[in-house]
Amino acid sequence: MSIIPTELVEYIIGNIKPPRGRNEEDIPCWMLENKGNFSVKTAWNYIRHKEEPNRIHKWIWTKGIPFKMAFMMWRLWKFKVPVDDRLRRWGLQGPSRCWCCENPDQETLTHVFLRSNIANRTWSYFCSCAGLSITGLQLREVIMLWWGANAKKDIKPYYRAIPSFIIWELWNRRNKMKHERKNISLARIIHNVTRNMFMLIKVRRPKMICSGNWPIMLKELEGYCPSVKVTQIKWEFPLEGWIKYNTDGASRGNPGLSSYAFCLRDEKGDLIHAEGASINNTTNTVAEAKAILEASKHCKQALYNKIIIQTDSMLLYKVLGGQWESPWIIRDMIEEIKTNLVNIQHIVQHVMREGNQLADYIANQAIEHGNCIYTGFASLEPNGRRILNSDKIQSPYLRISLRRDKGRGKDTT
Ligand SMILES: [Zn+2]
Repeated sequence: MSIIPTELVEYIIGNIKPPRGRNEEDIPCWMLENKGNFSVKTAWNYIRHKEEPNRIHKWIWTKGIPFKMAFMMWRLWKFKVPVDDRLRRWGLQGPSRCWCCENPDQETLTHVFLRSNIANRTWSYFCSCAGLSITGLQLREVIMLWWGANAKKDIKPYYRAIPSFIIWELWNRRNKMKHERKNISLARIIHNVTRNMFMLIKVRRPKMICSGNWPIMLKELEGYCPSVKVTQIKWEFPLEGWIKYNTDGASRGNPGLSSYAFCLRDEKGDLIHAEGASINNTTNTVAEAKAILEASKHCKQALYNKIIIQTDSMLLYKVLGGQWESPWIIRDMIEEIKTNLVNIQHIVQHVMREGNQLADYIANQAIEHGNCIYTGFASLEPNGRRILNSDKIQSPYLRISLRRDKGRGKDTT
């Protein structure tokens, strides 16, 4: 059973003011999910205190590393690993001996994970291939050396995984020795770490062919070049007799200061009219909907009867096409748009951001400089003119993306 904090319960039953830090009017959109239902999840997100993301934690929890290994690394980072030396600090006195060496030493974190013969040789093997040196470094410094290694951006996650793999294997070896008196050789540790790296590569880059040998693996990682997909996108002229509305909404912070814009062009690509205005504290979705709403009002007033409306919001496109249910927060606007367009021959289209640049530009102008209206080419600023002209001469924008396996193994840092 989940526990709903008292202040929220009291707010729900209408007893008190909204929880601290929130205004009365912004509560509903935070308390409800998209469809307008109340859920514990949205309520929790509403009242929780969110910490700034911590860089170290991001490195420890690198995507693709098995949970148990990342967790072990997190414990080590917090000195929460029960070696004798730590136990003593927690008040459990007793004799101390390590389980890694033939002539046992005191068991400390540094000894088990760095200074002992086996640990030192493991680190040295992986470091020397990568051109790193651990001489004179403390345990945390060695880990940081890998986390901050000067490597290509897309192979950094693999570097960040190495300490977790090594720490896990060393800890495993120590426990096997202590509790089962079983020895694990250096070669076995190296093999296991390499195998873990192999699995990580398979998870993150399913298409990459890689060998099972660390030095070669490093070279393969660095030399890997995913294939690139280039898509041409351009603004297209409307058919003869049709008017094209490009609409866009922008939001700083989402939610935050927002704006909407729409611009209409004829079959020659000439600007007939464009306008943008800022909206107080709202979200992207609302701003996108507002843009279409204002465009629909405009065309109703101007008595156009053949119009194309373009939006770069997939959500709005699907909602207006009836494929998706409307989020409650824009439901009224959607109804109003439909009413405005009822006697007008219209087509709603989805367009990539690159094909919607003029509307995007005007929306940003509205956020930065306030409301604006343009009545033609001459009234635009130089940047706006440039976009209008390049749309008119049909110069394509190129969208470059990495080809991926279907839905699997997204390679993110
Ligand atoms: Zn030892």
